[in-house]
Amino acid sequence: MTHIIAEPCIGTKDTACVDVCPVECIHPMKDEPGFAEADQLYIDPDECIDCGACVSECPVEAIFAEEDLPEKWSAFYAKNVDYFKK
Ligand code: SF4
Repeated sequence: MTHIIAEPCIGTKDTACVDVCPVECIHPMKDEPGFAEADQLYIDPDECIDCGACVSECPVEAIFAEEDLPEKWSAFYAKNVDYFKK
């Protein structure tokens, strides 16, 4: 299980979620290469502990537990996972 960042993050990249994640699994962070180029932020599924802390921090409600991801944004599951395969 993991949490997923979906479409509302595109163009937003607020990073409030990054600040509260206890395992620092949301990338790219502001000081990481690729931050400016990234469409959105992503959650590393191998590191996420499903604590849920990021969900309420997101100002655009872009973060969902895997089982709560709206059907219209189902493609964002793979988009998050694939980001960490590079
Ligand atoms: Fe980080 Fe918890 Fe959000 Fe997973 S659910 S990305 S561990 S804050």
